[in-house]
Amino acid sequence: MKLTVLGTSASTPSKERNLSSILLNFDGLNYLFDCPEGTQRQLMKAKASYMKIHAIFLSHFHGDHILGLPGLLATMSMHQRDYPLLVFGPKGIKEKVNKALELSLLKVTFEIKSIELKQGKILEEENFFVECFKLNHDVPCYGFVFREKDSLGKFSRETALKLGIPEGPLWGQLQKGKKVKVEKKVFNPKDVLDESKKKTGKKISFVFDTLANNSYVEKVKESDVLFHESTFLEKLTERAKETKHSTAKQAAKIASKAKVKKLVLFHFSPRHKETEKFDIEAREFFGNVTAAKDLEEIEL
Ligand SMILES: [Zn+2]
Ligand SMILES: [Zn+2]
Repeated sequence: MKLTVLGTSASTPSKERNLSSILLNFDGLNYLFDCPEGTQRQLMKAKASYMKIHAIFLSHFHGDHILGLPGLLATMSMHQRDYPLLVFGPKGIKEKVNKALELSLLKVTFEIKSIELKQGKILEEENFFVECFKLNHDVPCYGFVFREKDSLGKFSRETALKLGIPEGPLWGQLQKGKKVKVEKKVFNPKDVLDESKKKTGKKISFVFDTLANNSYVEKVKESDVLFHESTFLEKLTERAKETKHSTAKQAAKIASKAKVKKLVLFHFSPRHKETEKFDIEAREFFGNVTAAKDLEEIEL
């Protein structure tokens, strides 16, 4: 799994920083969290393929989080994408996607599945699932958890074949911890799995624009990495409250309560020129923190 912070600015881009979005690469596919203006060029600079984007998750409809969508869809079309794209967003996402297509004046070459966000599991695939939870912003806004599924142990094809379990769906079921039957004989997962190699899947959480509070601490609990918005420094705490955003210190307190392993701050107001100060203010309350730089990568 690789995470790339494509941008770190809030409201408007600055000379140093692109608007905020994060790319997650897992098992050969890309998942994009927010799609602001400038996303395409940041993807190129990160050497990440926009054609491999399987799903886009939009936290909310403020312009600094979605205005890259028309251009990205147009580019995918120009390059003859021919497989479906999932676009998740708050209520009204279908209309927003239609407007994006209208703006780019292009006939799309692929199917776009617009899916409205609701709390709970929104996507489940073979080896991961994505959950969504409400944040506290001045328009409906959501956070996400990307959770790799646990592995119950290393599967031995040799043993499976030796036991006479044919290759195919039965193997998958055993790997998921289910018993299977082959000609009246029952096999247990432990017959073919080396349980000493079992591992817990990685958990990555994304908290976009929000007033920091306890409502989502439980959701992001024990994340391997928590990306948390951090629009302001402490001296602008009042402004954070008014505009329903977080400060670095507040984000650090959430990370500490949720006992996450690593905190990555992003979405910095352009009025704060140097991001080091975010790092310093947060570190007082949570040790393993970094104020992200554009195009910073985290490998897990
Ligand atoms: Zn924002
Ligand atoms: Zn916003």
